[in-house]
Amino acid sequence: MVLPNEPEFQQAYKELINALEDSTLFTEEPKYKKVIPVVSIPERIIQFRVAWENDKGEIEVNNGFRVQFNSALGPYKGGLRFHPSVNLSILKFLGFEQIFKNALTGLSMGGGKGGCDFNPKGRSDAEIRRFCVAFMRQLARYIGQDTDVPAGDIGVGGREIGFLFGAYKQMQNNWSGVLTGKGLNWGGSLIRPEATGYGVVYYVEKMIEKATGGKESFKGKKVAISGSGNVAQYAALKVIELGGTVVSLSDSKGSIISTEGITAEQVYEIADAKIKFKSLEEIVGNTASAAFTKNKVEYKAGARPWTLVEQIDIALPSATQNEVSGEEAKALVKAGCKFIAEGSNMGSTAEAIDVFEENRANQVWYAPGKAANCGGVAVSGLEMAQNSQRVSWTAEEVDNKLKNIMYTCFENCYETAQKYSKEKSDLPSLLKGANIAGFIKVADAMFDQGDVF
Ligand code: NDP
Repeated sequence: MVLPNEPEFQQAYKELINALEDSTLFTEEPKYKKVIPVVSIPERIIQFRVAWENDKGEIEVNNGFRVQFNSALGPYKGGLRFHPSVNLSILKFLGFEQIFKNALTGLSMGGGKGGCDFNPKGRSDAEIRRFCVAFMRQLARYIGQDTDVPAGDIGVGGREIGFLFGAYKQMQNNWSGVLTGKGLNWGGSLIRPEATGYGVVYYVEKMIEKATGGKESFKGKKVAISGSGNVAQYAALKVIELGGTVVSLSDSKGSIISTEGITAEQVYEIADAKIKFKSLEEIVGNTASAAFTKNKVEYKAGARPWTLVEQIDIALPSATQNEVSGEEAKALVKAGCKFIAEGSNMGSTAEAIDVFEENRANQVWYAPGKAANCGGVAVSGLEMAQNSQRVSWTAEEVDNKLKNIMYTCFENCYETAQKYSKEKSDLPSLLKGANIAGFIKVADAMFDQGDVF
């Protein structure tokens, strides 16, 4: 049942249903229709009070959630988001997406998502630690390495995972891989921080190769990226490494633009300052910064990047949901953008997706987040595997596995789109391919396990 007061969840649900219905899947195999009403309701939703003490000795109270959506393929797996906008509609949409994304990695992981309407910005380390302990005091009884393995998302990075893990271990007297994104010297996996951003770029490498018959690559391409957090930072660094030009980054207050290209040095400086909750405006305006005084960038207050640059070849939305509107999608197409791949979850509005899909005939190719950003959870899956075996793989090993997962995910989306699309095209809809491929894998497991019959 999709409730009318859950707009984000409705949007994610409709995206899946439209992709399935506008294909040959249900006519070829009508049994799959029976899965829809079952898969669209979470197996369990946990909601809890998080009461904690701020630095003034006052009590603050927040709403905590965990949506354990589907465990057909493995333990529930999906991030925790700490942001004032968090509510059940957003977590249900993220958990729903996560089910099919995790299926696309080829690893054994179910789907879930959680978080809290806590705003970490401006909080001291001690406040964040006390909040994390209070949050885990409620969550600990519902998770476990074979039950539910949360990770990070917006507002939850390495520092928060450390505090949450420490609290879990003390409460349960149990060291296990119950969270991913851990520190490297205590069970974390190399390449996990990089994985989502790198993974998006690996996915787009394959899109460019397929669309141009191997004639083109990232080299020389102008790439607009939104966000300046974990996903955006590593996507930017990989694009620069592959010879592309990063023309933008952004945050919730504005964008930075550089037609010459944002440098790796600047990305590192942004990464350091973002941990301290600095805005891009403060970072680029810092006159003591060698990186930003040597190579000037333009700051545009209150604007997203999509309409600010005249020529864009590739767009990687990597901040938050619904960050590309229909009008902005049109502006991207006008600027020459041929490849759009979401680092963020549901980065494009339904109207924007329509614009991209309508322009496929003009060689515009769109990849939804559930496929393009599955690298993060994939390496979380690899972190779980290393924890179970008590081993650590080298960065090269993990990066190679990540590349392989992203390339296989692309081929799976491509081939599934060709198999089930009503129209035949050299650039089939990756939106349909991703949704159908993820759905079939989960649905088959649900039939086998008697969840649907
Ligand atoms: P971070 O918290 O590290 O960074 C988020 C970035 O997005 C920041 O630059 C933030 O700006 C900006 N942002 C957040 N909310 C808004 C908003 N409402 N409007 C404009 N900008 C906003 O998060 P991540 O990089 O981890 O996540 C980014 C996206 O990628 C999310 O959609 C997440 O679900 C998705 N994702 C993340 C994965 C991961 O492994 N981390 C895996 C798969 C998907 P500011 O600094 O001003 O707050």
